[in-house]
Parts: sequence; structure tokens; C-alpha cells
Amino acid sequence: MAEILKRLSAKFEPWRRFPRDPFLLLVSTVLSQNTNWHNTRTAYDRIVARFRTPKQLAMAEERKIRELIRPAGLYRMKSKRLKEISHVILEKYGGDLNSVLRMPYKKAREELLLLPGVGHKTADVVLAFGAGRDVLPVDTHVFRISKRLGFAAPGDDPDQVKIKLEAATPRGRRADAHMFLIELGRRQCRTRNPLHEACPINDLCPIGIRYLRGQPSGSRTR
Ligand code: SF4
Repeated sequence: MAEILKRLSAKFEPWRRFPRDPFLLLVSTVLSQNTNWHNTRTAYDRIVARFRTPKQLAMAEERKIRELIRPAGLYRMKSKRLKEISHVILEKYGGDLNSVLRMPYKKAREELLLLPGVGHKTADVVLAFGAGRDVLPVDTHVFRISKRLGFAAPGDDPDQVKIKLEAATPRGRRADAHMFLIELGRRQCRTRNPLHEACPINDLCPIGIRYLRGQPSGSRTR
């Protein structure tokens, strides 16, 4: 993983897009579900221009939230979720998500997972990028690539992939690994028709090595 990170960090720019405020980070993560970065960003900019705090969102009309986040798609479900999350943060934590992020990692993760619609990946994104915890959130790109690279077994679930991948990643580099593997997944290691030839780590990947040797890579279905 150290060599993979070295290569990918030379190739890709690290993201600078995460809002620092953990609540706004959570908002952007909810908006990003099942859509691309451009749509997420448009919806995010529109909503934070009007509502920036759990209190403001909890009190906002759901119809108004829907209208603002429409570009992100699934706007009915997402507006309902944003309101529910805001209510819980307001009532349970006095509107301050930082009180959760200051808890020990395991406890903080458990608390985040209790928020409506927040799953393991979203909780880990908030902990990694909102609280600087050394964790590796596993999204669909990271999940797929970890298996192709051989860090995880084909039948592993996201939690098993996370454990194996974190163990393989140098300390302090897990958030970087998350970002760079996602970039790799968007550009070369795509779900269908991965671009082995153009991949910057093809000589470190079992599938890439087979491809370079002219053998069937067998990655179309993996
Ligand atoms: S060589 Fe192919 S399968 Fe391996 S990481 Fe690169 S794109 Fe993905």
C-alpha cells in the first residue's frame, strides 16, 4: 500500500473539497449518495447558502430543502433524512456534532451510526475528514479495488475489507488511501472495462500483471 500511495499521490491531486464543519460534512455526504461530485456540489452550495446549522435545517420547511437540493437527485429521501438528522443532533447533542467527534473512536462511530440513514461509510467519512481520525472509509470504489488488488478476499463484506485495508495502510495515510483509491476507481479501475493499460499501479496488481503478460485479466466481472 505504501508504494501504491506513493504512485497515486504523484498522479492525482488530493481533494480539498471537504467542509471543515463536521455537520456540513455530514450534509455533503448525505447529498453525495447515488450522484456525482458536480451534482453534490451544486446542491450543497444551494443549501448551505440558506441553512448551515442543525437548528436551521431542523426548522426549515421540507419543501424548501427539497427545492434546494434537487440537483443531487433522490431529493425527497435526502431532504427527509437531512431534517431527521438535524433534529437528532439538535435534541441529543445540543446542535453540536463536535461533542460526538471528541468521543473515543469506537463510541463516536456507534453514535454516528445511530443517526437516521448514516451507514458505516458515512460515519467513517465524518470521522476521517471531520475529526482527523486515522480511518479508511470503504465506499463502492474502495470495496471493488481492494478486492482486485488482493487486499481483501472476493467474499469479504465492507467491514472485513476495512479491517484488512487499514491493516495494510501506513499509519496516518488512511484518509489519503480512501481519496486516492476513489480517484483510481473513477479514472482507471472502473467497474466495467477497467483501463489496465493506463493504470499507474498495473505492475502492483494481480489483474494488471496478468494483463501486462498478455493473459486474460478476468476483471470484467470482478
Ligand atoms: S491494473 Fe486494472 S484491475 Fe488492477 S488496479 Fe489497475 S485498473 Fe484496476
